[in-house]
Amino acid sequence: MANDFYQILGLDRKADDKAIKSAYRKLARKYHPDVNPGDKAAEAKFKEISNAYEVLSDPDKRKAYDKYGDRWEQASQMQDYGENVDFGGGFGSIFDHLFGGGGGFSGGGSAYEQDRPEPARPKDLTIDVELSLEEIDSGTTRTLSYQVGDACKSCDGTGAVRLRAPRQCGACGGSGIMKGIFGMQQQCASCNGSGRISFEKCPTCAGTAAVRTQKRVEVKIPAGIAEGRKLRVPGRGSVGANGRAGDLYVQVREAKHGSLRRLGDDLETEVHVNYTTAILGGEIRVNALRGPVTMKIPECSQPGQKFRLTNQGMTKFGTTNRGNLIVVLKVDLPKTLNDREREMLKSLSEVKA
Ligand SMILES: [Zn+2]
Ligand SMILES: [Zn+2]
Repeated sequence: MANDFYQILGLDRKADDKAIKSAYRKLARKYHPDVNPGDKAAEAKFKEISNAYEVLSDPDKRKAYDKYGDRWEQASQMQDYGENVDFGGGFGSIFDHLFGGGGGFSGGGSAYEQDRPEPARPKDLTIDVELSLEEIDSGTTRTLSYQVGDACKSCDGTGAVRLRAPRQCGACGGSGIMKGIFGMQQQCASCNGSGRISFEKCPTCAGTAAVRTQKRVEVKIPAGIAEGRKLRVPGRGSVGANGRAGDLYVQVREAKHGSLRRLGDDLETEVHVNYTTAILGGEIRVNALRGPVTMKIPECSQPGQKFRLTNQGMTKFGTTNRGNLIVVLKVDLPKTLNDREREMLKSLSEVKA
C-alpha cells in the first residue's frame, strides 16, 4: 500500500491506542510546521501523519481502514469519514483530542476571546399558582408578576460588545503566538492569532448575556381545571439572543380546603350528626362548595354511610355541568348521660332485648 497509515506512524497492525498516540506525538513534535517554518516537505509529512493518526485513533475509522485499506472511505458508506485536518484555523481537533481542550497551552493572561460567553438562550419557565377550590370551580384570572432573564439589549444577548478601538492582546503581548506544548509555537488562543482583542465583556450584563426583567402576565384559569395541569402562555419565558422567547407554563396547584376534598369532578365531605338524628332520621346541614345546603337522611342511617348530592361537586372542565358532593356520615355518640337519658336508654335496651 502506497500510504499505509501504520507505516507512516511506524507501527505494526496490532498497535494499541497507547502506541498509536505515542507514535503520533513523537512524529508530530518532529514535523510540526511551527518547528519547521517554511519547510514544505515537513508540512506535507505532518499532514500525512495527522491524517494517519486521525484514522487510526478512531476505532470505527480504524476498523474500516483495516478491512478496506485505501478504499476504506468509499467502502464504509454508513458514515462520512471525509473530514480533513484543518490547517487554516490551527490544529484544533486533533490537539484538543490528544491533549484535552485548550488547556495544554502555557502562558495565560486574559483569555477573554476564548471564553466568549454563551449567547442567551430562550428558556421556558414554570410558575406554580395555588388556587382555592372555589376559584377552580368558577374559573378565575390571575395576574402573575415574575422575574425572568431576557437577552441583554446592550450586547444583543451575546455577552460581549465590540471595542471601539481594538486593543493589544494581553495573553500574547500582541504577537498572536504563544509557546505551546513541547515548546512549539502555537497560535494564541485568546486572540486567535490576531494579536488584538476586539471584544470585551458587556458592562450591562457583566458578560452573562442576560438581564433580569420583571414581567406581568394576566392568566385566565378555566373552570374545572385539574390539579397539576399546566397552562401554556407562549412567548412569556426568557428571551434569547436571537429574539426568540421561551414559553411560560402556569401550573395549577389546589389549595387545601377546610372541609371538602376533591375527587376529580366530585367533592367529598364528612358531616357529624347526633346519634339520635342518625337513628330517627332528619334534616342535616352540609357546607357545600357554594354555601350551606340542607339534606334529609333516612331513619337508621349508619355511621360511614355515604349520600350523594347531585350537582354540588366541581364544574366539569370545558362544560357547565357539575359533579356530585359525597356526604360521609359521622355519628357522634354522647360523652356523658344525664339521669333521664340513662333511664330512657335503659328502657330502650329492655325493649330491644
Ligand atoms: Zn493573543
Ligand atoms: Zn450584555
